[in-house]
Amino acid sequence: MNSIEIQALRTLWKTLAPFLGFIARREVLLAQAGLKPVRITPSEIDRVAVTNAITTAGLACIPALRSTWINSDKGKGGWSSAMAAEGEGAEFRHLYVATNQVSANALRNAEESESPEKFGRELLIPSCCRHMFQRHAEAAASVQNDFFVYSFNSQEADCVIEVPWELNLGAQYFDSSLISHYPCSPLCEDSLRIARLAARIVGTIDPIAMKAAAHAMQMGTLYTEHHGVHLLPDPSRNKRGIRYSSDGVRSTGACPLQQALASGSLVTHDSSGNINVYENEKIFHVTSDMARILLPIVGNAR
Ligand SMILES: [Zn+2]
Repeated sequence: MNSIEIQALRTLWKTLAPFLGFIARREVLLAQAGLKPVRITPSEIDRVAVTNAITTAGLACIPALRSTWINSDKGKGGWSSAMAAEGEGAEFRHLYVATNQVSANALRNAEESESPEKFGRELLIPSCCRHMFQRHAEAAASVQNDFFVYSFNSQEADCVIEVPWELNLGAQYFDSSLISHYPCSPLCEDSLRIARLAARIVGTIDPIAMKAAAHAMQMGTLYTEHHGVHLLPDPSRNKRGIRYSSDGVRSTGACPLQQALASGSLVTHDSSGNINVYENEKIFHVTSDMARILLPIVGNAR
C-alpha cells in the first residue's frame, strides 16, 4: 500500500468510528484494501450514515433484499446468532461492501441462494473451515448457532486448548477479532494467515486500536454456552488448569460464574463438563456441557 492508499483507508476507518465497532470496521477496511467483499450489520439507526460513508469513499455498498431476525441470547451477555422467525426477535438489515458493484452483488446473491458453501466461497473463507461449518450447521442451529465449540476442540486431559492469539475468538464477544469465520481448528494455517494479514493492515491504519484488540485476544478465554463468556488476564497453564489474575477479568454479563472468576485465580474444566473456579481453597462449581478454555500463545511458540 502506498501512502495515498493508506490515507484513504485511515479516513474511512475514522469516519465509521461513531457507527461501527472494531470488527465491522476491520471488515470494511479489508474490503477497501481489495482483499475480499464483506457483509456488515449496522444498527438500523446508523445504516444510512454507514452506507453514505462507504459510498463516499468510492466503495460499493448495497443492502440485503430483506431483513434478518435474530433471537436474543440465553446467558451470553447479549451475543446471539440464533435466527428467529420473520417478525420475531431483533430486526437487522445486512450491508454488502466491496470495491465494486459486481463483487457486492455477487456476495448478496450468494447469501440469497441460501447456500453456505457458495456464500463462504465468495467471502474467501478457507475450504477446510467451510466444510467444518457445514458439518456442524444443524447441531449449532439447534442451540444458539455458535460454532465456537466446533472450532476449538481438544483431546487434552485438562481440556485447555492452546491457540495462536490471533485466532482466539473468545475476544470476539468483546468486539475484538481478526477473522470473521470460525476456523476448522486452532491449528488452521489458512485462518492464521488471514488473521495475521488483518493484524498487519489494522496495525498500519490504527496501531492504538490494534493494540487494544490484541490485548483482549491475548487474554485466556473461558467460553460457555449459557454461563457467559469470560476473558482472563495473564493466563498460564498449570497441572490442573489455567491460572489467571482476578484483576481485570472481563465477562459478557453479570452471572454467578463471573462473580466467582472475579475473586478466583484458577479455573479448571474437565471432560465431564465441570468448571471449577478456585480462590485459595474455596471452590465455585458449575456444569456446562459446552465449555472451552483457550490459552492464547503469543509469539512463534508453534
Ligand atoms: Zn481451516
